[in-house]
Amino acid sequence: MKLILLGPPGAGKGTQAKRLEEKYGIVQISTGDMLRAEVAAGSPVGNDAKAVMEAGQLVSDDILVRMLASRLARSDAANGFILDGFPRTVPQAEALDRMLEEKHLRLDAVIELKVDDAALVDRIAGRFTCAKCGAGYHDTFKTPVHTGVCDSCGATEFVRRADDNRDTVVARLDAYHRQTAPIIPHYAAAGLLRSVDGMAEIDDVTGQITAVLALV
Ligand code: AMP
Repeated sequence: MKLILLGPPGAGKGTQAKRLEEKYGIVQISTGDMLRAEVAAGSPVGNDAKAVMEAGQLVSDDILVRMLASRLARSDAANGFILDGFPRTVPQAEALDRMLEEKHLRLDAVIELKVDDAALVDRIAGRFTCAKCGAGYHDTFKTPVHTGVCDSCGATEFVRRADDNRDTVVARLDAYHRQTAPIIPHYAAAGLLRSVDGMAEIDDVTGQITAVLALV
């Protein structure tokens, strides 16, 4: 299964990607996670990307396309993948088309998570993840069962993203509408677009996606 998860920041792409990863035995490829790892490592790419990410803007297409090409070449992507956060611009979508064509691969579906902008700021501003296993939580909507202890792995350290604050969220939403939403017609024209209601409960959204994928 080769999928793209599309939607604004905070739509639940990461959460759903983790579930699909387990269900279908395919890898989640999150370009945001890859960039955060570069920033943490202090690599040249990370050093260039840091300020751009903290401002809620998009890192250059050149860097992202190169990063994705080398990630797709790794053996664990051979079984299938879920792209989470890529493509984010029309040139990235076109570069992905070329990459897949060269490998004689085709996407099975592009799943769009539709969420109202008003809900996204609250969703993003309160979110945090387990530092050890990456399980996602939220100050209001999903606190750990035992305060300060990860439900999934029992770790007691949590992290918040530097760009998950109200000011940056507004810039990230703006980048989504201006630069990313224009790729939706590209995939609709290719007959690959499937839209689901991202405002529903997490389990419900997973159910909608599973139902859609059963038909592709
Ligand atoms: P995410 O974790 O997907 O929300 O990505 C966090 C940040 O990383 C974004 O706000 C961008 O600054 C950068 N980023 C991630 N993926 C891309 C991409 N495909 N193109 C450009 N910038 C990206």
